[in-house]
Amino acid sequence: MPARAQDTTLRGMPVIRDAEIEQLMRDYAQPILRAAGLAQQNVRVVVLSDRSFNAFVMDGRHIFINAGALFDAKTPNEIIGVFAHETGHLAGGHLQRLREQLASAQTASIVALLAGIGAAVAGARSGAAGDIGAAAIMAPQQAIMRSLLSYVRTQEDQADHAGVKFLNATGQSPRGMVELFKRLSNEVLFNSRYIDPYMQTHPMPADRVAALETLAKASPYWDHRDSPELQLRHDMMRAKLSGFMERADTVARRYPQSDHSMPARYARAISTYRNAGLQQAIVQIDGLIQTQPHNPYFYELKGQALLEGGHAAEAVAPLRQAAQLSHSTPLIEIMLAQALNSSNNPKLAEEAVSLLRNAVVREPDTPDAYSQLAMAYSRKGDLANADLASAQAAFARGDLKTARQLAARAKTRLPIGSPAWVRADDIVNVKPPNIKAGAQ
Ligand SMILES: [Zn+2]
Repeated sequence: MPARAQDTTLRGMPVIRDAEIEQLMRDYAQPILRAAGLAQQNVRVVVLSDRSFNAFVMDGRHIFINAGALFDAKTPNEIIGVFAHETGHLAGGHLQRLREQLASAQTASIVALLAGIGAAVAGARSGAAGDIGAAAIMAPQQAIMRSLLSYVRTQEDQADHAGVKFLNATGQSPRGMVELFKRLSNEVLFNSRYIDPYMQTHPMPADRVAALETLAKASPYWDHRDSPELQLRHDMMRAKLSGFMERADTVARRYPQSDHSMPARYARAISTYRNAGLQQAIVQIDGLIQTQPHNPYFYELKGQALLEGGHAAEAVAPLRQAAQLSHSTPLIEIMLAQALNSSNNPKLAEEAVSLLRNAVVREPDTPDAYSQLAMAYSRKGDLANADLASAQAAFARGDLKTARQLAARAKTRLPIGSPAWVRADDIVNVKPPNIKAGAQ
């Protein structure tokens, strides 16, 4: 996983946390969300550690996208197009309305049907895929299925329309969205055995793609291209995902030594640190830093390689640089605090505490931040606050039982009524329905 800080999950889904990728996702999504009038709703893009192509919304607060989709998209515009479509679902309140439809269908197992919808729609175009669709559908349920299917189709058309509108409003081309959807629908035609999750949740028959294309080509921005700067950031992200997620020989094939571009050097440096020697990796990372001395993520990578290689004290300087250049990005500050904690220097524990107290305000659901905070407090000999931070770590992981036990112990050590005591008391008294909200 790119983000070493987090081996984390959201509702059981494996999440990739990485400062560089998350910043890029924000820069892709924010203009679209603003155009949709959703700027105030704090919608976050969450990157899932999954190689297949998928993007979806499940609530009003997150847009989920698989690392596989980021990796497959050749241009920023394709991903921005996906976000525009998903934002169309959010802005249209589709989730809520689909839930109402499902409730009125009064069939507990109806949700299972949804998985078959994409295959069934695709099957209308291709005999082989049709078999898959047919197999997924039980005959008695076909009537409900048909009505839900047409309902989902309507939502997809609406999301396409809204997506193009948001892209136009932000002066961006809808071309990436059209090309991506075309590519996905062709994949189903030519390879009926493999149906991407995105196809299942976003049925994409030919007439839908054709309607989208007509609408999109009328856009005055059809020929607009991503800026070279944004394209480079996109290519760097794909290189990072390759370096972290792919085997060394695959990375070497994709980014051969003869390729001297920044993305190729980035992918190779990451792959070297993961698969070969630390020394060799540091040489490559220093080369990157020399070429772009103001890129915070190169210093972050250097710090990460040193920290994981057992050189915590040496990791502090590059991580400080990364934190400063990235304007105190919480994920980087959490890693810096980890390096400070691991340096076996009690004087540094104070600095770790202040970094982490800031980080948890902006990243309140990150268990690692609380675990590091607990360690920093215990280095300082502050056992009461160490207990409270451990309780918060357990709470963020969703382990309510441990969280309550630790919070109860923290309470016995904290001044009654102090802010820390109140936080501990909140955890002791939390009721299960609140946990979900708190742990998201
Ligand atoms: Zn959709």
